[in-house]
Amino acid sequence: MENSTEARAVGVVGAGIVGVALAFLLSRRGFVVTLIDRDAPGRTGPSFGNAGHIAGSEIFPISNPGILGTAIRMLAAPNAPLKIDPFYAPRLAPWLYRFYLSGRQKAYKRATEALTLLSAKALPSTKALLAEAGLGNMVRHAPALYLYESRHSLENAIPNWRAKLERGHSYTVIADRRDLAELEPSLSREFAGAILSDDWGAVTDPYDVVTDLFQAAIGSGVEYRRANVEAIHPAEHTITVKGEGKAFNFDKVVIACGAHTPLLARQIGDHLPIEAEGGYNYTYPASGLELNHPLILADRGIAATSLLRGLRVGGWAVFAGLNSEPKQAYFDRIEKIAIRTFPGLRTHGGQPWSGLRPSTPDSVPIISRSARAKGIFYSAGHGHCGLSLAAASAEIMLELLRGNQQAGQPFAIDRFERPG
Ligand SMILES: Cc1cc2nc3c(=O)[nH]c(=O)nc-3n(C[C@H](O)[C@H](O)[C@H](O)COP(=O)(O)OP(=O)(O)OC[C@H]3O[C@@H](n4cnc5c(N)ncnc54)[C@H](O)[C@@H]3O)c2cc1C
Repeated sequence: MENSTEARAVGVVGAGIVGVALAFLLSRRGFVVTLIDRDAPGRTGPSFGNAGHIAGSEIFPISNPGILGTAIRMLAAPNAPLKIDPFYAPRLAPWLYRFYLSGRQKAYKRATEALTLLSAKALPSTKALLAEAGLGNMVRHAPALYLYESRHSLENAIPNWRAKLERGHSYTVIADRRDLAELEPSLSREFAGAILSDDWGAVTDPYDVVTDLFQAAIGSGVEYRRANVEAIHPAEHTITVKGEGKAFNFDKVVIACGAHTPLLARQIGDHLPIEAEGGYNYTYPASGLELNHPLILADRGIAATSLLRGLRVGGWAVFAGLNSEPKQAYFDRIEKIAIRTFPGLRTHGGQPWSGLRPSTPDSVPIISRSARAKGIFYSAGHGHCGLSLAAASAEIMLELLRGNQQAGQPFAIDRFERPG
């Protein structure tokens, strides 16, 4: 552990992967850390059931210059990965508008630069953090296969992969179905080709990562308090966090509550454009097959991974608000895709799960101090890549807490106030 003269009391609210990774790193760097969650660490949010991928080459924001046409086509197709609940659409409208603006050239370029910086650290930082916690065996280098259903969609994707190569992410085109079958024998023959992306990793199981890292954090001195945080009061020298009749005082507080972060931020006067983006999956404990790579079904917004708990297949982007209930019809469609993709799949005992990603309009997480209150910080909005970016985000937040504001510049909340 490093010695630090700055052993200040930091409260981290939220014990998903982002909060737990941060709490562990801060305690190892000499901060006195209390982690607060209303639930067991990693149990309720998307940190529990995500695909377990460390997506090192995901450098492009979801919104892009052609997004309007793509989104309209997707919304019209029942099997497309994007869904918006029509009753929720009016409340989503301001976020959607920002999403659209984020796809314009200048904003798109800025978001790509930010994600390029962060994604370069995805695998190395995750490996370093887990190794420091004595959990190095929970993450491995695992090149990913992006699968395309037609030649046309493979060819359409190539310019993006070339642009990734220019930013240092190497790839290999697999244009022959026989080569693909050799790489991933359990896959259906319907795929016309694939891209093998080198800079990826995978964890043994995302929930195990949170719980084991949490134990490591406790071992390095982090205190854990269970409380539903209802209010955060910043004062000149102390910040008081209140919930369920309890009150905790800190020098600094980091709010890392995933999709729930804007609710606490609003009280402080910060507007965080983070929406809950639902994802659905099935985990098959006795699938009868083992994948050699993390898989991305690029045309369907679906990922698949072999984890310790079984084969996990799922994805999608469903916007229906923070309090929405999962829809059985979506689980059914995900299962149909799983069966079609893996003809030998044994579905018996399959467990459905759904979680809410915390998504920003530009796909860039918010790793930032509050624009309103001194001593309050946010690490949230990691969207599709929270597991991948938790360790790298913790490193940036460490710098912010040490007073180095430059470190967080591309991730600061004031970017939403700058002209697009
Ligand atoms: C289907 C699916 C697949 C995914 N696959 C991947 C993947 O392969 N790789 C990847 O990198 N990412 C993936 N993601 C995204 C990733 O899971 C998320 O980005 C990440 O888990 C977000 O973590 P978090 O810690 O910010 O939030 P959360 O996991 O939501 O944790 C927030 C915590 O805050 C607590 N909390 C909230 N409000 C309060 C309050 N008021 N008081 C006290 N506690 C509070 C909650 O109880 C929770 O424990 C996937 C997501 C989904 C849905």
